Amino acid sequence: MKAKTDLRDLTYSRLSEYMEGLGLPSSRARFVFAWLQRPGTRDFSQMVDVKREILAALAEHAVISSLVPAAVEKSRDGTVKFAFALEDGAVVESVLIPEKGRHTLCVSSQAGCAMGCRFCLTGGMGFSRNLRPAEIVGQVLAVMEYMIDVGVVRTTPRELINNLVFMGMGEPLANYDNLIAALRILMDERGLEFTERRITVSTCGIVPRIRDLGNDIRVNLAVSLHAADDETRSRIMPVNKTYGLDDLLAACRSFPLPGKKVILFEYILIKGINDAGDDARRLAEKLQGIPCRINLLPYNATKSLDYQCPEEEHILQFQKILRDAGYRTFIRSSRGADISAACGQLASTGAKDEQT
Ligand code: SF4
Repeated sequence: MKAKTDLRDLTYSRLSEYMEGLGLPSSRARFVFAWLQRPGTRDFSQMVDVKREILAALAEHAVISSLVPAAVEKSRDGTVKFAFALEDGAVVESVLIPEKGRHTLCVSSQAGCAMGCRFCLTGGMGFSRNLRPAEIVGQVLAVMEYMIDVGVVRTTPRELINNLVFMGMGEPLANYDNLIAALRILMDERGLEFTERRITVSTCGIVPRIRDLGNDIRVNLAVSLHAADDETRSRIMPVNKTYGLDDLLAACRSFPLPGKKVILFEYILIKGINDAGDDARRLAEKLQGIPCRINLLPYNATKSLDYQCPEEEHILQFQKILRDAGYRTFIRSSRGADISAACGQLASTGAKDEQT
């Protein structure tokens, strides 16, 4: 028997085509789509403004999937980590970060990750599989449901979450087609209507896909740089052996940045690896001419990886060199470290770690 179609996998245009293919009026697709993008929609019977015959036909051929958290952990700093068990047993995590009445959701794009960055627990898990669009969008909807349940009140569901960052488990650009479909669904004005300035896609540097992203959709780009020379970068980020630093920065230079948009460069500071003054000076030189902001992330030490965080003095000195060179540079302390929700700590199986 043919598997039923998960309607939450479909962009608006694909849903219209799908309904047309079933002999249903595509003019009703906008109502169905709006229901699908509403937190709490589980069943066709909830779509009260869609004719019963249409719903019966959809129910015969299609399903509406939804994610339900298998575990929710709350950090001392208010960060909340959600673990979602998917149909096939894969587990992915999302992290909700509250800050001054605003909420940022860090979303996963893959179960595990094949990129193998040496400092990252997700990388240590290996790769299980790509997430479908419904599983990416489903994280957003499930977290919105949680927020409503715990009493967060906003006029529309979209306003519950101010920013979406694709910085959770996995390399988003390695799951390109599903990522683009999920972004189109999340940004659709007939649904949740996230605008381009509210979405950031982070990559470790898959150069051809950075170019594709710039052509296909308007979102903010974040690049995990973590080193300013090829030798160091290749040592901690194997992707650099395929796409070297100069190629990566050339792709950043040609990434469309309308208005005052900038690229966010993320740089995890690891003691003795990439935190020297010369590293900062090299970084300043390499980024010349790219409209950007730099986030310095002091490394979150874990028991299972042999890396350490530099001393504070060292971190401030690194920042000063970049600031003196004219770069907007911020030190970002990771949130949720006590529940393994901080940068590089998401790992759903086996590799769970304790903060040292
Ligand atoms: S840092 Fe990102 S790209 Fe690198 S292994 Fe971890 S999840 Fe994958």
